[in-house]
Amino acid sequence: MAAIEFRGVSRTFPAGRPALEGVDLAVADGERLAVLGPSGSGKSTLLRLAAGLDRPTAGGVWFDGRCMDDVPPHRRDVGLVFQEPTLLPYLTVAGNLEFGMKARGVARDERRRRVAEVAAMLRLDGLLGRRPSELSGGERQRAAIGRSVARRPAVLLLDEPFSSLDLPLRSALRRDLIDLHDRLGMTLIHVTHDQGEALAIGHRVAVLDLGRLVQVGPPREVYNRPATPFVAGFVGDPPMNLIPTDGRLMGIRPEHVRVRPAGETALAATVARVEDRGDSTLITLDLAGARVTARVADPTGLREGGAVALDLDPARACWFDERPTERKASTKLP
Ligand code: ADP
Ligand code: MG
Repeated sequence: MAAIEFRGVSRTFPAGRPALEGVDLAVADGERLAVLGPSGSGKSTLLRLAAGLDRPTAGGVWFDGRCMDDVPPHRRDVGLVFQEPTLLPYLTVAGNLEFGMKARGVARDERRRRVAEVAAMLRLDGLLGRRPSELSGGERQRAAIGRSVARRPAVLLLDEPFSSLDLPLRSALRRDLIDLHDRLGMTLIHVTHDQGEALAIGHRVAVLDLGRLVQVGPPREVYNRPATPFVAGFVGDPPMNLIPTDGRLMGIRPEHVRVRPAGETALAATVARVEDRGDSTLITLDLAGARVTARVADPTGLREGGAVALDLDPARACWFDERPTERKASTKLP
């Protein structure tokens, strides 16, 4: 297996802002790291640098303390999975799973054993004789993952592998991937723009904003203590409220906004919208011109246009400097 280190990694292209700028990131041996960011934030660039498909313009990538600058992709021991499954159309699923091992001269019996093992882990048992064109989208993606792990790479890199699948299928595949990782224990970097997926898959989540790494931490930390207003507004559904106060921004999660009958506390607000989400109700509020969302279990007595009072738990709040150059948050801990 392998520990991966990005040391001061930048990648610039002739035109436009840098795709990555000064990224320092250490991924532990056997860790599952989710890389989260919107489209264009540099996620694929980071993955391509780890795979050796591209070279940094500054800094370097290190595997187990060894600089990878001059190591080509096929000598890095990495498996790659992309958004669109890359399977060989003329081979069966079994043939695809075997392919990488054959190329590396793994003996026939060992190949058979590993194909059976990976097929069982990824629920591909009944599909081994089929060709890619005879598989559904989810089956094809499971086969593509199987293809890259069957030869047991030290590192597995996944670039938005579930993005083209529908929601229930996505969560099923998430589960499969986590189970597979628990069994095989390779170092895994999973790139996604889906915050729910990143929080579900990563031991830690690394957040990219315009090519800069703005936060790395366990899901709970990224969710509860976002390092920047960008992270606060990107993680969570709905995301954290950002309320301007004098010179600073107060961040508070919708589940930490309490809605009370009008007059009980100082913060007077008006209900703008009541939205039933099934498991809870989202209340959009107008607080002196600022929009604030609250998540409540019981919406009784709340109607659109009604006057209410808000309770914002200061122990749960995060504070951010409003100055745009100030990227780091000064979080006030409870
Ligand atoms: P993501 O995967 O997060 O959507 P990318 O890593 O693909 O983002 O791209 C990051 C930035 O780098 C984008 O602004 C993109 O336009 C730019 N970029 C990526 N690859 C190239 C390239 N080969 N040439 C020029 N610009 C590129
Ligand atoms: Mg991408």
